[in-house]
Amino acid sequence: MSIGRVVVLTGPSGVGKGTLLKAILSQHPEAFLSISATTRSPRPGEVDGQHYYFLSREEFQTKIAEQEFLEWAEFAGNLYGTPRSPVIEQVNLGRTVILEIELEGARQVRKTLPSARQVMLLPPSVEELERRIRERATEDEAAIARRLLQAQTEIGAAKEFDRCAINDQLDTAITALEAAIFS
Ligand code: ADP
Ligand code: 5GP
Repeated sequence: MSIGRVVVLTGPSGVGKGTLLKAILSQHPEAFLSISATTRSPRPGEVDGQHYYFLSREEFQTKIAEQEFLEWAEFAGNLYGTPRSPVIEQVNLGRTVILEIELEGARQVRKTLPSARQVMLLPPSVEELERRIRERATEDEAAIARRLLQAQTEIGAAKEFDRCAINDQLDTAITALEAAIFS
């Protein structure tokens, strides 16, 4: 069996990464979406071990010390990290492993796994990004402000990525992101 590969997907909060990945993964059983650990609280409907592994800061710090993360970063006041061993296991099974992570984590993976493809998903405009974050209604005003500030940095880093796709119309964006990840 041939070895799989790792694809990093980065994009500002609210751009539609989760929405597009859900559609794309349903068509690609050979792909594996890495489940991250985080110290943020679950949103309504989020299930521990399915959307994230929800950890206390202490639990997360222990895992950092035990080098259990392939990469980790602080984003908008919370810690997020990719558990290392499932990524290695799934790549060894020949699967395409997708890491949906923010900019600092993507930069770490660029150093530790330079063969990983790096994809950036962009919004059609900053105004539309803000509209989507607000429409999702999962963060309070302070958290929305932190995420929009961070979005400027992430959008400004698009040129660091191997491929970019824009999430404007949903159907077109699904096709564009699917091509960026798999072709
Ligand atoms: P992310 O995972 O990047 O933080 P989400 O997938 O949660 O973003 O999407 C944020 C919000 O934007 C959701 O309410 C989602 O339904 C909406 N959304 C995603 N893609 C589009 C699109 N192409 N057009 C309009 N709304 C979208
Ligand atoms: P959210 O709180 O909206 O689920 O995620 C916030 C940000 O954290 C998003 O940009 C998402 O891509 C990123 N993220 C999720 N998991 C990880 C991870 O394991 N590592 C890093 N570095 N970022 C992550």
